[in-house]
Amino acid sequence: MKLPRVGQRVRHKGSGAVWKVIEEMEIWVQNHAGSASGPAGFMPSSPPIYRFSLYNRRMESDSYYLGLALAQAREGATAGEVPVGAVLVDEAGEVMARAFNRPIGLNDPTAHAEILILREGARLRGNYRLPGVSLYVTMEPCIMCLGAMLHARVRRLVFGAPDPKGGACVSLYRLPEDTRLNHCLEVTGGVREAECRELVRQFFQARR
Ligand SMILES: [Zn+2]
Repeated sequence: MKLPRVGQRVRHKGSGAVWKVIEEMEIWVQNHAGSASGPAGFMPSSPPIYRFSLYNRRMESDSYYLGLALAQAREGATAGEVPVGAVLVDEAGEVMARAFNRPIGLNDPTAHAEILILREGARLRGNYRLPGVSLYVTMEPCIMCLGAMLHARVRRLVFGAPDPKGGACVSLYRLPEDTRLNHCLEVTGGVREAECRELVRQFFQARR
């Protein structure tokens, strides 16, 4: 039997859940055979037992894709746009599209990063519906972008920092929770929040 090492991930055969070995612990068992090598009457268990933590692969990948969105946001800042970046990821984890906010450069009030990648994703698929895709964006989306995601049937939204001035997920409105809408969008917020927020703060500070 191959024993896992600390830091290694193991898949639980029954549930499919991935666990990470965080500690290898030696425990002492009572030694009835009488060949005590540890404290009197006890010996180390063989194999040692392990302490596991549920290894959340989703958390790791969310952070990775948000990092790609952050890179876009930084490009946006360089281009003089409000630094918001987004990436669209398909079911297999492949990045389909990436963009930064460009309403100023494109003279287009709808050219938010999310809209740009939804357009690109739909073009690639030849379909205006994008079921199964996930959208990663550095800031909580606005009403327009959230509306577009619902129209596109995006499966999952992951955002970085909430936007108290225009956010439609948790801040001004809570559209994903509105059961009157016929599409349910899974939302995760607060991923790499500090970095996303800091980028926007620095941008506005520099402009003042
Ligand atoms: Zn928007």
